[in-house]
Amino acid sequence: MVARSEAKATGASPDADVDPLTGIPSRQAFLKRLEARLTQEAVPRCALLLIGIDDFRAFNDMHGFGEGDAILRQVARRLRDASPRDAELGRVGGDEFGVLLPSISDPTLVRHISAAILSLLSEFHEVEGRRHHVLASVGACVVPAAGNDVSEVLASASLALGRAKRDGGRTIRFFKPQMRTDVATRLSLVQALREAYAQRQFELLYQPQVDLRDGRVVGAEALMRWRHPTLGLLQPASFIDALAASNVAGDVGMWLLHTACAQARVWTLGFANAPRVAINLFAAQLAESRLLTEVRHVLRELQLAPERLELEITETIALQQGDEISDQLQALRRDGVTLTCDDFGTGYASLSFLKSFPVDRLKIDQSFIRNVTQDPVDAAIVHSLIDVGASLRIGVVAEGVETAEQRDFLLANGCYEAQGYLYGRPMSAERLTEYIRSQTG
Ligand code: C2E
Ligand code: CA
Ligand code: CA
Repeated sequence: MVARSEAKATGASPDADVDPLTGIPSRQAFLKRLEARLTQEAVPRCALLLIGIDDFRAFNDMHGFGEGDAILRQVARRLRDASPRDAELGRVGGDEFGVLLPSISDPTLVRHISAAILSLLSEFHEVEGRRHHVLASVGACVVPAAGNDVSEVLASASLALGRAKRDGGRTIRFFKPQMRTDVATRLSLVQALREAYAQRQFELLYQPQVDLRDGRVVGAEALMRWRHPTLGLLQPASFIDALAASNVAGDVGMWLLHTACAQARVWTLGFANAPRVAINLFAAQLAESRLLTEVRHVLRELQLAPERLELEITETIALQQGDEISDQLQALRRDGVTLTCDDFGTGYASLSFLKSFPVDRLKIDQSFIRNVTQDPVDAAIVHSLIDVGASLRIGVVAEGVETAEQRDFLLANGCYEAQGYLYGRPMSAERLTEYIRSQTG
């Protein structure tokens, strides 16, 4: 078999078996080879890898298709370098590549090869002097466990790839039969979420953030709930990941922005020292280039000062974004909007991240606060996170403060703002209004 035939994309007659962009076998040719392999023996043993580039659409949006095409060509070349000699390659989708390992079905070996591929792909790509970093994921399956015919085997690898991407990308996942039912559950959840949005079943609760020195409410984080018609009030844990990954996230995110800003406006009308309102951004909102214009539009429409709005963004989400998003967020900061790094300390590059992604506040993750008064390691971590804030001269807020001892620890270590059950659970806007009123007397 012509395993890694370098096709000549320059020939006069276009060859349907060759992908014109990368020169490797097309989807059609690749599937033919997979078919041949699956029918060669009574019980064939082989493995299929599907390699997908993480967030390639965002890359194209950001850098243009020309640069995207160059990346795809380099990926194809690196795949060939990283794959065993007898592997069959193919471009099976826009940003998806297939690698058929015709004589390998040992999962350990498959994992080993997948890891080698990922590591080679994650090295810098250079396009006309510009360096790009793209990350990829692998969905792997072994035959016969993954199915008997082409469509079944391909679907299995595809489910595994989907899982790898949902688990955050740049990782390898093996197909498991369970994934078939998982996807069915998720699809109906996404459908239900779309309906929930259309029927206005989402609500926002607000959790106070206080100044520890005087207990005054200085901010409120908007937190979403789903008032399900039959299941009652649902916490984000049961739906937020599915929502964030779905295409409803952009719309819900805009609704959220609008609703929270409208509430902030109500508070500025009612109180001299109105709390700032914080919202959590979805990755999907950042992937769209309209974030800057939307935020400015909402603020103008509601006549709300930018200082009244805070955007919380997790490090993981921020890291997935390119320069353009970063520029938009920095423009909002210059307008006066507060940008906060949520769950600070849980990411893998918190310090270097702050260098490339300046923020106004750090929110220390609740996992460090939980045992801060018992566990000396947590105490040391919180202490040094507060130090980071101090040396960068940016605010620090602690989340998940439940006890007076935790509050005292924070005060003693120089952290003056906190959010947590000690001060209040997420509550309706009306209840928080009462809360603030009782303070201002
Ligand atoms: P998060 O942004 O880290 O929000 C803080 C979570 O910690 C909230 O849970 C809050 O109720 C909880 N919490 C606050 N204080 C305490 C405490 O003292 N003790 C304990 N044990 N927990 C405390 P919630 O409301 O269930 O939200 C969970 C996550 O769901 C949020 O984590 C956020 O990642 C996501 N989420 C919630 N609402 C939204 C939203 O409107 N948009 C986006 N993008 N994500 C949201
Ligand atoms: Ca948050
Ligand atoms: Ca958090």
